[in-house]
Amino acid sequence: MKFGGTSVEDAPAFANVAEIIRERRASRPVVVVSAMSRMTDALLASVRQAWDRDVRAAILSLEYQFGRHNEVVSGLLTTEAGPMTVLVENVRREIGELLRSVATRPALCLSLQDAIVSSGERLSAAVLAAVLRQAGVAAREVDARRCILTDENHCCATPLIKETFLKTREQLQQLIGDSVIPVLGGFIGSTVGGETTTLGRGGSDYTAALVGAALSAREVQIWTDVSGVLTASPHVEGNARTIPRLSYAEAAELAYFGAKVLHPKTIQPAVEGGIPIRICNSRSPTSPATLVGAERETAPQTVKAIAHKTGITTLQITSARMLGAYGFLRALFEIFDRHRTAVDVVTTSEVSVSLSLDDAGNLPSIIEELERLGSVRVEQDQAIVCVVGEGLRSTPGIAARIFSTISDINVSLISQGASRINLTFAIDEERVAEAVTRLHEEFFGDLKVKGRMSKVMAPGAQVAG
Ligand code: ASP
Repeated sequence: MKFGGTSVEDAPAFANVAEIIRERRASRPVVVVSAMSRMTDALLASVRQAWDRDVRAAILSLEYQFGRHNEVVSGLLTTEAGPMTVLVENVRREIGELLRSVATRPALCLSLQDAIVSSGERLSAAVLAAVLRQAGVAAREVDARRCILTDENHCCATPLIKETFLKTREQLQQLIGDSVIPVLGGFIGSTVGGETTTLGRGGSDYTAALVGAALSAREVQIWTDVSGVLTASPHVEGNARTIPRLSYAEAAELAYFGAKVLHPKTIQPAVEGGIPIRICNSRSPTSPATLVGAERETAPQTVKAIAHKTGITTLQITSARMLGAYGFLRALFEIFDRHRTAVDVVTTSEVSVSLSLDDAGNLPSIIEELERLGSVRVEQDQAIVCVVGEGLRSTPGIAARIFSTISDINVSLISQGASRINLTFAIDEERVAEAVTRLHEEFFGDLKVKGRMSKVMAPGAQVAG
């Protein structure tokens, strides 16, 4: 069971998480927890301040965060309040020292940063284990750095799978056998030599997937603040509802569109182990959840989700030199590589390439270089709409339905990924809400009617005729 930062943002949230775990203790969970929300951001900002030689300000900037931890400790703990307050104080002092080292030994900044940032997860794991014990649940904090072994690539380390599985089993199996719930901080690991590392932002999901795979868990639960993955963004579509089941491939296609959805890289260990991932809402534990698994189940209405993203820039590069030539695409993408800019959707014809960018920060210099290859057209304020479903692979007529539903909206950059389970296109940003609502109505609208009918009909009842 992995709980994200918003699930442990304050004392009531910790108490709520402890209750969720307590109710499920019979299934012998392992708990992975993130730092309290905003803690990692604050720690990273303090490292930057220390790097700028403002150590005093860096240390002061964290006072509020330690105050938040102390509030949880004093609000929820009785017998363990003393030792936990000492722990928070020790970590505070340790970070102060590390921030001083950042200022005096900037060359070590990345490894020091990992040591500093890891304290967010270490603290929340220790506090959560104590809160569980206070609730009468046998729980113990396990230092995740003893389980997750990584390479030495600080700040976005890659786990060493064999070693991690071995250590994780070594550290956790005995506790699980003794019915003690292990509580680990997510996101953190260590090199074989014992230096602290981190797995990249949002890395707690990665930890959960690694631990789940190491232990061949029945499932990995990601507890967050939304009710699973929705059929569309609820900001745009009021009738959006939880998708009960997604394949790993569908979840991967949706990952780009919603920060709330699992990042394919972080769930890879679970995918490889065929372990299902359930996305649950810690604010509403009985609400429907989404189960992501290996099964390629097709939704009755073929489409499972309509995702979108705004603030997109599209580029069209046209060049007669492309025709029959090789090396052109390499030259083109090297430009984006040099400017460290991710390209998202790509479509090509014989003489042109269209692509979309999320981050247009380096656009002027990118365009300057692209113009050496051909003529460039730029469109800003675009949106990408993505229709996803395993059923798209084999159901004829879906593209026709999609485009006839929005036939009065100008569409560009149409693409169907190699997995053939998504159909993506770009439209003007100002029409995206309307497009998503109309598509949602087309693919999900009559489900409400069907749902009502099946409730009215007695089980086993036959439709007359
Ligand atoms: N605390 C880390 C972050 O904010 C890791 C996580 O929450 O997954 O990125």
